[in-house]
This record gives sequence, C-alpha cells and structure tokens, in this order.
Amino acid sequence: MDVGEARRLFEQHGLPGYRGEQVLSWIHRHGIRDYSQMTNLPAYLRDELQGIAPLRPASVAAERRSVDGTIKLLLEYPDGNAVETVIMRHDYGVSVCVSSQVGCAMGCSFCASGIGGLVRNLTPGEMLEQVLEASIQCRSMGAPRISSIVVMGSGEPMHNYDNVVRFVRLANWNKGLGIGYRHITVSTCGIVPGIRRLAGEGIPITLSVSLHAPDDETRSRLMPVNRVYPVGELIAACRDYADVTGRRVTYEYALVRSVNDSPRHARKLVELIAGSLCHVNLIPVNPVEEAGFDRPDQATVQAFADVLSRAGISTTIRRELGTDIEAACGQLRRRVLGEERGRSR
Ligand code: SF4
Repeated sequence: MDVGEARRLFEQHGLPGYRGEQVLSWIHRHGIRDYSQMTNLPAYLRDELQGIAPLRPASVAAERRSVDGTIKLLLEYPDGNAVETVIMRHDYGVSVCVSSQVGCAMGCSFCASGIGGLVRNLTPGEMLEQVLEASIQCRSMGAPRISSIVVMGSGEPMHNYDNVVRFVRLANWNKGLGIGYRHITVSTCGIVPGIRRLAGEGIPITLSVSLHAPDDETRSRLMPVNRVYPVGELIAACRDYADVTGRRVTYEYALVRSVNDSPRHARKLVELIAGSLCHVNLIPVNPVEEAGFDRPDQATVQAFADVLSRAGISTTIRRELGTDIEAACGQLRRRVLGEERGRSR
C-alpha cells in the first residue's frame, strides 16, 4: 500500500488519514510489523487496526553467514512459501538482493531457482519485507544502512511487472526506506516487452540484463527465453532503453567453462554491444550441482575481459560473494526444502 492508499483506507473506516501515514512510516522506516509496538498510536486504535488491516509478517526460516560478510536469509511468508534475500557488503555500502517470485518459470539452465518452476508472484509488500528484514539484520550488526537494492533474486521481475514497479516506488518513498531510483537495479533474463515498458515508466532505475551468450544458438541452450526474444531483438530493446532513459544498461554475463567463455564469444559480444551506453559484468558462474556447470579458470576470465576492454567496453569481473553459503540464486531454498522433505519421509 502506498501512502495515498493507506490514508484512504483509514478515512474509509472513519479514522484520520494521517494515522495511515504514521503506520506506514513505522513499517517502512523501522521494520515494525506489529501494531502493539507503534507507540504513537492510541491504544484503542492499535487493537482496531489488527481487525481492519491485519499485519502478518514473514519470518526468517534459515540464515547463512559467509566469511566475507554476505548474509543469505530464507524468508518464509504466512502461506508457507519461502524466498531468498541476500545482504552484500561492498566498499561503497550495503546492497540487498531481492526475490520477485517464488520459484521462476524461465528455466535458465544454470539457475537453481528455476528448477521447480514458478510457484507464485510476490506482492510489492512481500518484496519490501525482504528489504525490511535485511535492514533489521544490518542494524543488529551495527552495519551501515542499506544503500542499494537489486531485484535479482529468484524470479523474473518482468513476469511480475506491476508488482515490481510498485515495489520500486515504495522503496523510494522519502518517508520510508528512501532508496534513490539510481540505486535500484531491476534485472531481466530478456523479456523484451517488459524492457520497452520500463523505459516509459519515468523512473531512472538501472536495467540489468542477463545476457550470458552473444549468439542465439548458445543463448537458447542456456536460456529458453531466447527462443521467444532472440539476441538481436533484445539488444535493440536495450539500446532503446539507454537512449530513452539516458541510463547505462548492465549486461550480466555468467562465464561457464567451455560453454560461453572463449575469445570467439568475447569478440561476438563486442560486435553486438559496441557503441552503446552499457557496462558488462562478468561473473564466473557459481557451480550449480544440478546443472553440472563449472567456472572457467582465472586466466580465461581475464582474457575474456581483456577483449572487451580493448574494444572500449566498460567491463568488471564480479567479486565473488558468499560462495561458501550457497550464494547462487535458489540454492539455499532448495537445500532447506530438500532437508525438510528428507525429514518428513
Ligand atoms: S536466472 Fe533468473 S530468470 Fe533465469 S531461471 Fe533463474 S531466477 Fe529465473
């Protein structure tokens, strides 16, 4: 609910609209999801509110802490579904990686989140709650506040477009989390109509595209979505996004040993994106047991990066975070679900 909707809800129940804003502020700013703790509300109102708009918070079902400071939370919602949220510490601040769906329908071959298919979409509130829980963790550790959000966890954001865009606006609310649009990134596996729609939203967020291969043959093998939106169409939409918004598009490229990591692939990638406002993030893939993928050695990764850099393309090799805590998207959820199934047998 945004502030206008909260005010209207309160007014419909004969309550002052500003109380709605107070409640939202408790939730967004302090992560409080229990009316009894909202101490600036009169006691009668706290009781009444639980009947009008019950708060049913998620709980932390599992937690993993990496030696590098990365924390992965498995959040369980009241309906029993669970998603992963990751808190990452960088030298420029703390970022949180948010899931947008329970499971995913996209079936990318290197990803543990897609293995069980899509279960359901998350609501804007459920996505917000991931950030709230992450903020609580940061406060309890004395870590800096969260300065950026990446919607890059389980799920395909463009498949849950309206809820994701609402979440982005909520996270930006200046009386709540107040995360600047420029510090919010939405990632897609390449849903072209979603990219085109996002370009017209008037919110200057960063678009991140999981490209992972520069040609249709390799990409279709890794990502079935490519059979619907092939590489040429995808790159054209990304170029247009950069033109319309003035924002640089980030291409994520997971390097998988002997699949997409050769100099030939690097040169093809240069042909595709040279001259556009973009950045390439190379990610030596986190090994996924189920998919049988391995990461290339460091020299291969560096050689790939060098081809791009020599062509004038801004390129980074992503620092690996949390490899000791099942950091690849979907791995912790599968591990915990697997253990629970094992126990119930
Ligand atoms: S990589 Fe993203 S889009 Fe692909 S299956 Fe995993 S969660 Fe879905």
